[in-house]
Amino acid sequence: MDGTLHTTEATGTLPLRSRWLIPPLALRRPRDVDEAAAMLAEPDAIAMAGGVEVIAGLKFGGPPRTVVLLRGIAGLDGIEPCEGGVRIGALATHERVARDPLLRAAVPGFAEAWGSIANIRIRHQGTLAGCLLAGLPQYDAPPALAALNARLVCRVRGETIVAPWHAPRGLVLGIDMPAGVRFAHDRSLRPWLVVSAAARFEGGRVRTLRLALGGAHRCAVVADLADAAELDRAALGREAQRLAEAWARALPEPDHLPPGTPGATWRRRAAAVLATRLITRLADG
Ligand SMILES: Cc1cc2nc3c(=O)[nH]c(=O)nc-3n(C[C@H](O)[C@H](O)[C@H](O)COP(=O)(O)OP(=O)(O)OC[C@H]3O[C@@H](n4cnc5c(N)ncnc54)[C@H](O)[C@@H]3O)c2cc1C
Repeated sequence: MDGTLHTTEATGTLPLRSRWLIPPLALRRPRDVDEAAAMLAEPDAIAMAGGVEVIAGLKFGGPPRTVVLLRGIAGLDGIEPCEGGVRIGALATHERVARDPLLRAAVPGFAEAWGSIANIRIRHQGTLAGCLLAGLPQYDAPPALAALNARLVCRVRGETIVAPWHAPRGLVLGIDMPAGVRFAHDRSLRPWLVVSAAARFEGGRVRTLRLALGGAHRCAVVADLADAAELDRAALGREAQRLAEAWARALPEPDHLPPGTPGATWRRRAAAVLATRLITRLADG
């Protein structure tokens, strides 16, 4: 999955996508994470969680693949407390994320935002991890997890490591979300623009405020708004527009502009409007 529309170079037309083009597959069913990690070390192996992206990709054809089905691994679909926050298992579906009471309490705003992504079929089949790992700029997971500074728990060569949200390694076991951070998300201009915001308050004052932009860059762009530190809620609300406009002005040039989508100037203006709304919402609590 490279995030681009799959077109034939000569004609610009969409290529055939069909289940008849699915290449020969070897399906592997690991019983635990170590077996799965070993299977994924094979050169043509690909992990499959809900399979929404994997199956769609295979329908474009290509060389034979080994598909490692993760669904049979017990314990990867849970949402549990972890040090400093909540761990969302790699097999937790969007629907589970949206309904989880622990997550609602720990990261206010996140589960609520997740209830409106995709459609009911995809929410029950697709996973939050798969949405991030698909690596597609227009999806909601990259900016959301960037704003929250989420961490990935990964199994690599027999070791469990923690990696930043944008640098998965090997088999991803879960996503660690920090507790006590308020989250807000605006996807009203998706697929061109998705903005996420996350703020930590201490003693009624902003400790950290992060904004992330998806849709316009191959990797979501994230920034800490140092200017917001120490503002109380009322001041944050008053300063929302100024902070958002300064953030939008400093955004890097887009590196993902499929033909026919709005240009960089429009994106900056629209990003500032959405970010103003999100900061205001965080300030209002
Ligand atoms: C009609 C439709 C509407 C949609 N709308 C939205 C939307 O509004 N917003 C949005 O954000 N998304 C949307 N999506 C995308 C959807 O969220 C993703 O397709 C889904 O979450 C992918 O999850 P999955 O479990 O099916 O991933 P899979 O297809 O199983 O995997 C996706 C990628 O991640 C890799 N992978 C999966 N799990 C692991 C793991 N544990 N370790 C290592 N690699 C792994 C796979 O190898 C593959 O490369 C939509 C999709 C469709 C079809």
